[in-house]
Amino acid sequence: MEKIHIKKNKLKALENRHPWVYSGAVAKMPEGLNDGDIVEIVHSNDKRLGYGFYAPGNQIVCRVFEYTRKELDPNTQEYWSDKIAKAYALRKAHVISDETNCYRLIHGEGDFFPGLIADVYNDLISLQILIKGVDRIAPMIVKAFQALGFERIYNKSKEISKRLENVETPKGWLTEQQGSPKVEVLENGVKFWVNVETGQKTGFFLDQRDARALVGKYSKGAKVLNTFSYSGGFSMYALKAGATLVHSVDASQSAIDLCDENALLNGFDKGEHKGYCADVFEHLTKMERDDYDVVILDPPAFAKSAKAVTAAARGYKQLNLKALRKIKPGGIIFTFSCSQKIDKELFRKIVFQAAAEAHRNVRILHQTTQPNCHPINIFYPENEYLKGLVLYVE
Ligand code: SAH
Repeated sequence: MEKIHIKKNKLKALENRHPWVYSGAVAKMPEGLNDGDIVEIVHSNDKRLGYGFYAPGNQIVCRVFEYTRKELDPNTQEYWSDKIAKAYALRKAHVISDETNCYRLIHGEGDFFPGLIADVYNDLISLQILIKGVDRIAPMIVKAFQALGFERIYNKSKEISKRLENVETPKGWLTEQQGSPKVEVLENGVKFWVNVETGQKTGFFLDQRDARALVGKYSKGAKVLNTFSYSGGFSMYALKAGATLVHSVDASQSAIDLCDENALLNGFDKGEHKGYCADVFEHLTKMERDDYDVVILDPPAFAKSAKAVTAAARGYKQLNLKALRKIKPGGIIFTFSCSQKIDKELFRKIVFQAAAEAHRNVRILHQTTQPNCHPINIFYPENEYLKGLVLYVE
């Protein structure tokens, strides 16, 4: 196996198990490597650090999937089956239950598997393959999932990311067994329709399971506004917990249609739920004051790059300010950011500024993050992308 030698004075990050090797850390690079080749990463004196996927780039040249001193052969089915089985064991022990059969099975670096996202929806797996290294081992990945009993695997990759030119695994079914791309799933006992073919991302947003449960706790007897609702994740929990009325707002009509379908699926057919296809900012500007007891703000990532952080911060502030101005005294705001480039300190500062400008007393009741099927690799803090604050507004 080809070896990438690391400079002596750049070993720190790798000894600390950061999953990326930057070009500046490389002392010696073998010639003729192809995108996605599996390589060994070694000290300049040849001592082994681990294994990774080579990526030809100006910045990140290797994504490490295994830190070990031992000699391994990661070009085998056994290696990848074992890695996937370990990720599954965590979910089996702490995520899957009679109440929950949808969850993230592989969370990229969080499962020591850079470049792969695998989401389970009942009997079906929906994939995002993000790098060439993973693309090249896709057949082994499919076999590993099949060994765990998943016979239907759907690849979303191409649709999702623009930096995938090099990924060749076709979009669509990767298994002989196919059937309907639309499945019914259970999350904490709440039912949802998920369509992996037509849905956003891999079909559903699995990263808000814990926060949705928390919304349930505050929704009994409440009038709830769920903005950026997509298929109504938060809305359904609020309804199930006994909200008197839930409004879902999303710019996409198909998302609102999904909300309506999901409300029916959970037995709410008496007008307890109403969907609005509208821009959230306009909706918040137009709506009455003091109308809602609970407001949920779960926008898409406003900052997709480091450059976009300033503009994104303004967006988050405006959004929170509008909700803070309108919510009923004693009301609760659930506010989230899934922009990886905006960390929790910055997010809290933004919400603080909005609260100050709204001239209202605000107390933080909870701080939320992603659930345990999105584990955070301790050596890769960037893995923690979702943050939320639950605010009590006087
Ligand atoms: N809260 C959702 C996930 C939100 S994803 C859940 O729990 O599943 C973000 C959603 O915001 C998408 O459905 C997208 O259609 C919608 N969206 C993006 N910009 C919007 C805007 N300006 N106004 C209304 N909806 C918007």
